[in-house]
Amino acid sequence: MNQHLYDIAIVGGGPAGLTAALYAGRNQMSAVLIESKVPGGQLLNTELIEDYPGRASIGGADLAQVLTAQAQHFGTELVISEARRIRVRADGLKVVETGAGDIQARTVIITVGGNPRKLGVPGEDEFAGRGVSYCAVCDGPFFRGQHVAVVGGGDAAIEEALFLTRHANRVTVLHRRAEFRAQSLLVDEARANGKIDFVLETVVEAIEGEGSVSRLRLRHVTTGDTLLMDVGGVFIFIGFVPNSGLVDVHVDHDPAGYYVTDPLTMMTSVPGIFAAGDVRSQLTRQITTAVGDATTASIAAMKWIEQEAHRLHEAA
Ligand code: NAP
Repeated sequence: MNQHLYDIAIVGGGPAGLTAALYAGRNQMSAVLIESKVPGGQLLNTELIEDYPGRASIGGADLAQVLTAQAQHFGTELVISEARRIRVRADGLKVVETGAGDIQARTVIITVGGNPRKLGVPGEDEFAGRGVSYCAVCDGPFFRGQHVAVVGGGDAAIEEALFLTRHANRVTVLHRRAEFRAQSLLVDEARANGKIDFVLETVVEAIEGEGSVSRLRLRHVTTGDTLLMDVGGVFIFIGFVPNSGLVDVHVDHDPAGYYVTDPLTMMTSVPGIFAAGDVRSQLTRQITTAVGDATTASIAAMKWIEQEAHRLHEAA
């Protein structure tokens, strides 16, 4: 057990966690950021970012590197280890159990994001990494010159379909409805791209192949007609499942599992535990909203510590 008592333990090293770390360090709080892999989160799976204010465009990995350097410059410690559980002690202090030992803190900011939602169809697990992918930047180059399918109708699906046209020679977007959740700007861009076609009101019933993916079994949602589509790979972008199961006491969440936070402070229903970024219940999940949430959470955590100290002093 690391005996040091930190002011703030930040769990998760995506843009939200790195921003919380930057603000905590810059405000002279003793802070630690716990991340299981290389910091950067989903930025590392994003080739190019064009909607981060102040930069016309920047590579995801480049932004991750700048944010990490900035966080470390202001003195936040970085622990590369998996956070397994967050405990709330009877005295209110928090303990983050990690592979590198327990870390104690007055407050915790949870910025762990989530994982891609799975389709849950036969073949999905069997062919994971052999034609089934959840990351176009990571796996797109394996499909050079091939026909691939993208499942989903949100921003991620359309953006990744556009990215995949760099490698694949045909990209079919499969979406269960006729309308898209994605921004119309992206949909228009995809419609204008000669390598992209759309199969709408259609769901994937099974992913099939011999050793690796070679076809999809599809079903039209209204007619019930089934169709086999030959593809070399299938990229699944149907949303996100928040990683909101770390805390050992009840934390209020919405029906989809995202933490509900106080809009003024980003504090969860557990005093001293804050949440920021994709794990938090909110309208949209952008890098800019993640860094905004994290800024608020970091400053609010600092103020909460001051108020708690004042409260305990008054009570003494
Ligand atoms: P999303 O917006 O929740 O869209 C998920 C899509 O998958 C929807 O079209 C949904 O269909 C479909 N879907 C869900 N479950 C399905 C299932 N079981 N079978 C088939 N289709 C299914 O998720 P996202 O695209 O991952 O985006 C998540 C958040 O990140 C959003 O807030 C988005 O704006 C943001 N984001 C932004 C950008 C950007 O601005 N550049 C890029 C990526 C992500 P229905 O429409 O029928 O529900």
